[in-house]
Amino acid sequence: MPNLEKESESDSVPADTGHPLSHNEMANLVEQRLESLRRAGLTHLPKGTGEYSFEPVQRSESQAENKTESRPESTKAAQPELPDNALAGPATKPSPSVVSESAPSYVADNRTSGLQETPDVTAVPSSLAAQSAPSASTPSASSKAAPPAEAMATESYGPSLPASERATALKVLQEEVARCTQCDELASTRSQTVFGVGNPSTRLVLLGEGPGADEDRIGEPFVGAAGQLLDKIISACSLSRSDVYILNTVKCRPPGNRNPSQSELANCWGYAERQLEILQPEFICCLGSVAARTLLKTTLSIGKLRRQLHSYRGSRVLVTYHPAYLLRTPSAKKHVWEDMQFLMKEMGIELSK
Ligand code: URA
Repeated sequence: MPNLEKESESDSVPADTGHPLSHNEMANLVEQRLESLRRAGLTHLPKGTGEYSFEPVQRSESQAENKTESRPESTKAAQPELPDNALAGPATKPSPSVVSESAPSYVADNRTSGLQETPDVTAVPSSLAAQSAPSASTPSASSKAAPPAEAMATESYGPSLPASERATALKVLQEEVARCTQCDELASTRSQTVFGVGNPSTRLVLLGEGPGADEDRIGEPFVGAAGQLLDKIISACSLSRSDVYILNTVKCRPPGNRNPSQSELANCWGYAERQLEILQPEFICCLGSVAARTLLKTTLSIGKLRRQLHSYRGSRVLVTYHPAYLLRTPSAKKHVWEDMQFLMKEMGIELSK
C-alpha cells in the first residue's frame, strides 16, 4: 500500500504566472455567465452579482501543509464507518457567510444511476465539432502529443451549448476518452475509463482526483467508500447526485491508488477542461488538492485555498478536502461542512435546519 499521507513535490502543479482578473473584468464575466445560463434555460439563478466576492488565487508556494487528501486503498470496498452526524463535527466558530450552522442529518443513499439525457437530442451540434475534433490543445486517441499544460484558467468559456445539446456533446467526448491510450501504464492497467456522471445542465460540478478500484470496475466516479461519504455531503446540502455533475481530474485509475503523475495529469486534464467547457457550470467544487491544484494552477494547500471563492473561466470555485481524506481524518469533516454551507449560501440554496 503506497504511503498517501505525504504529497510528493513532483506531483504538484507549477505556479501560473498569469495575472488575476480585475474586479470589473470578473463582474463582467459573471454577468456574461448569468446571461448565457439564462439563455440555456436555467431557472435557479442567484439573485445578482453584487453579493459575490472574488478572491484571486495566491500564486506563491506554500509548503506549510502538505497532507494529501488522496484516495486511500481502503476506498475500494469498505463501507465508511460514519455516524449519522459525521460530517458536522464539533461546533465551530461560524463562517460569516454561513446560512445554517446546524449539523446535517443524513438520509439514505439516494444515488441515481447516471447521466440525465436531455430529450430530443438527435445530432451532434455543429458547435461540438471543433470541440471533439483532435486539435493541438485537446487530447486525441490518435495522437500521443500532450495538450499544452497551461489551462485556460482566466479565459472565459466560449458560447454555451443549449441544454438540449450538452448530453450529446458529453457522450461524444466520453467515447473519445474511452479510446485514449496516452498514458501507457494507465491505458494498459485500467478496466475502463471513468468519464463523469450527472446533470448536463447543472450549476454545480464536483471535481475529484481519479478513479479508485470501485470506480474502475463500475465506470462511474465516486462509487466506493469515499463516494458514499460524498453522497452524504451532497444530501446534506439539500441536493442529490442527479442535481450535480461529478468528474475526475484523470479518467483512468492510477495503479495501487497512487496519485496521478505530472505527465498523467498533463495528458488527461484536457478532457476535464472540455467537459467543463460543455457544462459551463456556475460553480465548481474541487475535492482535494490534486483537483484544486490542477484546476487553479497553484501549489497552495487546501488549508490555504478553502474558505474563499476562486475563479476558473467564469465559474466560481470552492476548494475543500477530499472525502477520502475525511475517512482518514474525521476531524476535518467540520471544515468540509463549513465549506459546503458557504458554497450553498453563494448558490442561494437554503439549507434545512
Ligand atoms: N476518489 C476520486 O477522486 N474520484 C473517484 O471517482 C473516487 C475516489
